[in-house]
Amino acid sequence: MSDEYIENNQYNIGHICTKRQCALGRADKTAMRWIDAHGARVDYSFSDLDRESNRFANVLSDLGVQSGDIFFTYLPKMPEQFFAFLGALKVQAICGTMFSNFGEDALLDRLGDSGAKGVITKKSLLRKISSIRSRLPALKFIIVADGDTVASEGVLGLKDLMNAASAEFETPLTSAETPSVLHYTSGSTGKPKGVLHRHGSIINQNMTTREVLGLTLDDVFWCTADQGWVTGTSYGIIGPWSLGVTQVHYGGGYDAREWMNLLARERISVWYSAPTALRMLMREDEAIFSEADLSHLRHVFSVGEPLNPEVIHWARRLLKRDIYDTWFQTETGAIMISNRPGLDVRPGSMGKQVAGIEPAIIAECGAHLSDGEQGNLCLKSGWPSLFITYLNNDAVYRQKFQHGYYHTGDTARRDADGYYWFMGRSDDVINTAGHLVSPFEVESALLEVEEVAESGVVGVPDELLYEKVVAFISLHERYTPSSELEIKIRLRVSNKVSTVATPQEIIFCPVIPKNKSGKIMRRVLKARYMGEDPGDTSTMEI
Ligand code: AMP
Repeated sequence: MSDEYIENNQYNIGHICTKRQCALGRADKTAMRWIDAHGARVDYSFSDLDRESNRFANVLSDLGVQSGDIFFTYLPKMPEQFFAFLGALKVQAICGTMFSNFGEDALLDRLGDSGAKGVITKKSLLRKISSIRSRLPALKFIIVADGDTVASEGVLGLKDLMNAASAEFETPLTSAETPSVLHYTSGSTGKPKGVLHRHGSIINQNMTTREVLGLTLDDVFWCTADQGWVTGTSYGIIGPWSLGVTQVHYGGGYDAREWMNLLARERISVWYSAPTALRMLMREDEAIFSEADLSHLRHVFSVGEPLNPEVIHWARRLLKRDIYDTWFQTETGAIMISNRPGLDVRPGSMGKQVAGIEPAIIAECGAHLSDGEQGNLCLKSGWPSLFITYLNNDAVYRQKFQHGYYHTGDTARRDADGYYWFMGRSDDVINTAGHLVSPFEVESALLEVEEVAESGVVGVPDELLYEKVVAFISLHERYTPSSELEIKIRLRVSNKVSTVATPQEIIFCPVIPKNKSGKIMRRVLKARYMGEDPGDTSTMEI
């Protein structure tokens, strides 16, 4: 990353995305065009972003937040989320972000495991945190972005805090190694793991925003990802603002016509979205696309799930553009493998590695495999946005590294021309609409339903979502399946885990297959669903 962005070894992400941009002559340039769900727009310049994040940094300092303390956002897309994120980083707090659809169990796991000191949320979500607050001894305060102070409950209204806070803040000198962002990611066993990053991750985020997404100072960029996930922070905040690029942030949900209007009206030139959203667009009336003026749109990128060739063919026909697939994960912090302008797109392939990244396809035995052979997708460790650890779980972090390579948990192959092809995941984690869902977390929530004796949760292929969540459930003897019970089960998962984890299908069955040590054999359940041979079942408990 050039001296233009890093001055005197100041790696602080909050500083680089705001004050540094002002120093580079962009103080009055629009950093964020905020458009709410009803279409109301507010522009924030880089100096607005600097001032509001300074205020938030002072708010946190006054509340006793210090370097290394953990602070979370639990908000839908709204301007305050960006001020809070950048302000927290300015005080060198570790800033975690949580998807606003999370339910109580998901919140408790993240706030509890991290020992978070504070969280910012909004009125409509406060109830979920309040209900678990007695189990979070480290949580000192809750800030409500759109609410008033209720001192007796340790709830603080943001407006009062911001009004009382100075707009000046001197960001402490922050090294590249200082911890920065925390995202929890789901595994197939155990609780979600806290993936910890460092301020130096901005080196990769800045570089890939320039070299893969191709952003320049004249661009208007729209990244549809929620800030609860890594794409939402790496490319919905850090990468573009570290380069002084104008971003559109939209608070509304999916609406094909509105999205096309937004692309046209706001003259968006680079758009970063996800396969499920693109597949939803494919189902819409074609006139929506032929009528839209997309003349400003230079590039469309996608991330999070495999991008099927049909989507690329559709985009070539109707949007008159390629869609560039990009691959990365929470742990890698930035795009590692991608298609991009200047590289021929092979529909179905994720493209080639980005500069400075050395992938390898490695067999279980540790041997490096040749072109065309399928194996574990690994990356030679050492790039700046590689995570520092799994918070409170260093042992599992270490297991991810062997002989200098980080093992991603995905399987892939490389063809003779160096293109990578995603094959699947080597664990049971479900990727539904780009959200990773842990079968373990869903099974735990299901077991809390009094009628449920056992459950096994799997992801099965789905045309729209890539994978959908299917729950196999056996009931205690005195209960029988019913549609009311199905609703109760779905509501429980939605309230406890999240709406994206809610089973799309529930299949009642007398027993759940387990191996002799009591582990649920999800592989057998999946094969049963798919009507396939379950393979070796010799370890199954009869
Ligand atoms: P997350 O850590 O939640 O961002 O999820 C990362 C995982 O999503 C990866 O390990 C892959 O399994 C999947 N993923 C991300 N991008 C792609 C892609 N372009 N193609 C296929 N799978 C992807």
